[in-house]
Order: sequence, then C-alpha cells, then structure tokens
Amino acid sequence: MSNQVPGWRRWGVSAVQLLLPQQCFACAAASGGNVLCAACFGDLPGRGAARCPVCAIGQPSGETCGACLRALPCFDATQAALDYAFPVDRLVQALKYGHRLAASRLFVELMVALPVPDADLVLPMPLHPSRLGARGFNQAAELARPLARRWGLPVMLDGIVRDVDTRPQVSLPWKERAANVRGAFRVTGRVEGLRVVVVDDVMTTGATLAELARTLKGVGAASVENRVVARTPTPG
Ligand SMILES: [Zn+2]
Ligand SMILES: [Zn+2]
Repeated sequence: MSNQVPGWRRWGVSAVQLLLPQQCFACAAASGGNVLCAACFGDLPGRGAARCPVCAIGQPSGETCGACLRALPCFDATQAALDYAFPVDRLVQALKYGHRLAASRLFVELMVALPVPDADLVLPMPLHPSRLGARGFNQAAELARPLARRWGLPVMLDGIVRDVDTRPQVSLPWKERAANVRGAFRVTGRVEGLRVVVVDDVMTTGATLAELARTLKGVGAASVENRVVARTPTPG
C-alpha cells in the first residue's frame, strides 16, 4: 500500500486546497480559483461607470460634478475602478486584514484596465507609522508597486511622511474630515516639476487625498492625479 500516492499529491494539489476548495468571496459559489465567480465579477458595482473626471463621483454625463465646479479640489483628476459597496467593501477589508495577495491582484487588474496615467511618478497614500506598525504593511503600497510596474513608471514608497496621527477619518463627521488631516503630510522625496499619481484603496470625501495633493503642489509637483480602487458613491 505504501507505493500508492494519493491523487491530490500526484497533481500537486495540497490537502488544504482540497479541504477548502476555492469559493467566490461574495457568494460562496465555486469560483475556479478566482477571488470572485464570473457572475459576481460581472456585477461589481460601478465598474465602467461614467464619473466626474476630477473626483470620480458617479456622474451619468461624465462631466465635472457640481461640487467640483463650486470648489475645485487640490488634485487635478481622479479615476476609480469601482464603487465602494458590497462586495467591494468586504474585499477592501480583506486587502487590509488578510487574503491580501488575492484581493490586491484583483484590484490591480481592474485599475490597469483604466486609461494609463499621464505621469512621471507613482506614490502610494502613506499610512501613519503607528498603523503601519500594527498592520505590518501599507495596503496602498501593495497596489502602487504592481501598478507602477504595469504602467512603466517609477514608484516612490518612502517619499512622504505622515506626521500627525490623525484620527481615523471614518470616525469623524464629513465636515470635520478636512480639518483632521490638515498638515498631516511632509514630503521628503523629490517631486518638483513631476506629474504625480497617488494610489489609494478607497476615496470617501477625498479630504485626505486633497490634503496630500495640496502638500505635493506646495513643494512643486506639476500635477496630482488619484487612482483609487473604489469611490464612495454618495459623499454626504
Ligand atoms: Zn459569486
Ligand atoms: Zn467631482
């Protein structure tokens, strides 16, 4: 009996994979080794939606939204792959707290499908050192690195310091979010004259991205464009 090799071993399949077959993250159907089954992938919220070119809020006309017309943000443009709704919210949590490779691969593919940015440098939204220490990695950098490679652009992983330990934006009312992040960033890398693409996972009010853009332009960045996985559909 000792010469009988179990089938799963002959095919290079681990026992763990057999015990835990790949299921769709959203509906638990068989997904053929993908994060999502074909149906859930096809139903991803906001994929291919027309958006405001400045802040990426859903805008059926594809024109600049009223909020951006009233007060132009410090960044020049934003592209979002998806809306921040189920199952994208769960996938973003998975990116931060586990399954990060599978989730980041899916997000990178969706972000690469957007037009290539007209830029010189890719910057991940920095995480405050205390949170980086607790989590061990910056989820924005997990996206920025492969995206920069695919776009053929350099990535600067440590050119921005997040100085102020701001309270998590999610704990604050919408109106307090801009004040909470004022002065949060310090640029230590060289961005002068460069067109910068900032990569982040989720854009909610855009206050943090606006503050980073303000800081980057303050030290001479020529332009700042945001690329995010998901945009909150209705900011307040
Ligand atoms: Zn599914
Ligand atoms: Zn807008």
